Amino acid sequence: MNKSDSERIAAVLENIGYKKTSNISEANLIVVNMCSVRQSAIDRVYGLLPKFKKLKAQNPNAYPDFGGKEKPKSLLTGCVLRKDLRKFEKHFDYILSIKTLPYWKDFLNPAELAKKQKFFNFPNRVRKSRFLSELKGSYYPDLRNPQIYKKLDKDYLKIKPKYFSDLSALVPISTGCNNFCTYCVVPYTRGLESSRPAKDILEQVEDLANQGFKEIWLLGQNVNSYQSPTDHSLNFAKLLKLINDIPGNFWIRFTSSHPKDFSDELINTIAECEKVTEYINLPVQSGDDKILKKMQRPYAREQYENLVKKIKKNISNVCLSTDVIVGFPGETKKQFGNTVKFFKKIKFDMAYIAKYSPRPQTAAFKLKDNVSKQEKEKRREFLTQVLRKTALENNKRQIGKTLEVLVEKEKNGFMIGKTRNYKTVKFKSNKNLIGQRPKVEIIEALPWGLKGKLKTP
Ligand code: SAM
Ligand code: SF4
Repeated sequence: MNKSDSERIAAVLENIGYKKTSNISEANLIVVNMCSVRQSAIDRVYGLLPKFKKLKAQNPNAYPDFGGKEKPKSLLTGCVLRKDLRKFEKHFDYILSIKTLPYWKDFLNPAELAKKQKFFNFPNRVRKSRFLSELKGSYYPDLRNPQIYKKLDKDYLKIKPKYFSDLSALVPISTGCNNFCTYCVVPYTRGLESSRPAKDILEQVEDLANQGFKEIWLLGQNVNSYQSPTDHSLNFAKLLKLINDIPGNFWIRFTSSHPKDFSDELINTIAECEKVTEYINLPVQSGDDKILKKMQRPYAREQYENLVKKIKKNISNVCLSTDVIVGFPGETKKQFGNTVKFFKKIKFDMAYIAKYSPRPQTAAFKLKDNVSKQEKEKRREFLTQVLRKTALENNKRQIGKTLEVLVEKEKNGFMIGKTRNYKTVKFKSNKNLIGQRPKVEIIEALPWGLKGKLKTP
């Protein structure tokens, strides 16, 4: 989602005359699009601050059109927690909610900045939507109104992104989350869940299909709880069907799915729609029932297991990835052992294994973070080794199959791409096949990918 937001930020800034630079010391404006899901991401932003300070002290290049004397401005956006907002205020010129993006053009254009317009001169409506005030509504009463809040969401998602790839496009279908898992900041930093009107999504996908994009990623924190605001019966499965009917030669992918919203209707839709690919990211978070309860995940391991059985039975050659947190407060060795057993049983193809990071404002923040850093690292490594084995086992089952591969890049003499079920494949080719979907016979399996032989160019 942050990457998709960066694409919209780039579009807004380019429209008012900015050009991207790979050399930070040339920049007039430095935008940091932050994530607060884990402390490590926030620490990376802190790590940038000395550099900003130095640039501000010495940069002679900023604003050459206006005499070259102005210092570069810095802007912080993305997911920011209230606690960090206060700390960051003194280091950034601007801190703006991503939901105010439609208004940035009014005051961020280089001419305005060169006039040394200060934060306090900004239009009122922008000042009113400074971070998190909109969530709490404590400073800015008009934003307590859910209608205004929702409108900001819609306006910001209507901005046409500057897609960073020519092949694969990110399309958010909803923002925010209503689930309040006890460890997670998303409902606090991104707000409650709000779905985009289906009409807007369909128009965007039609446009992407006409431009020749080969892969569309539908995004949402809880993508499968989608419900069109204009027609409540239009759920995620129905949206997938409508997108599948759009003419074009593209694949449909989506992330992240919540197990509680993975209906039979959705499973059948994935199985029936030829453009919808056979890859599902289904975050489990823990393989222990007591920890799941403490996380406020509304399912038990058995229910998750039954769901996986149904998915595997109905969707052929499906691959599953998951998200899991190790070292949640109070997680005993035995409870971690249950996650290990669960991994061995489900045999995931891929997993995003995170070490628990205490997040202010969340319910779990009140619990003692009593699993040591070293122990969390040990658990992460152990689980990675289990995953390595199951992924390799699954990959071996692909040997001998001929699969379509969407070629993304060339590296060290190999074409590299992804199958429908999101396996990475590398193979040799005399021709550059980037952007094409040749058929490749799988000849070798590795834990994190496959090797193949080109069948059809
Ligand atoms: N909505 C998805 C779901 O239902 O799980 C995930 C979205 S969340 C932004 C991405 C991942 O970050 C989560 O699946 C979780 O594993 C990880 N995560 C979230 N909060 C975390 C925390 N406090 N510490 C470590 N990992 C965390
Ligand atoms: Fe966070 Fe995902 Fe839980 Fe929502 S469902 S609170 S985004 S982990």
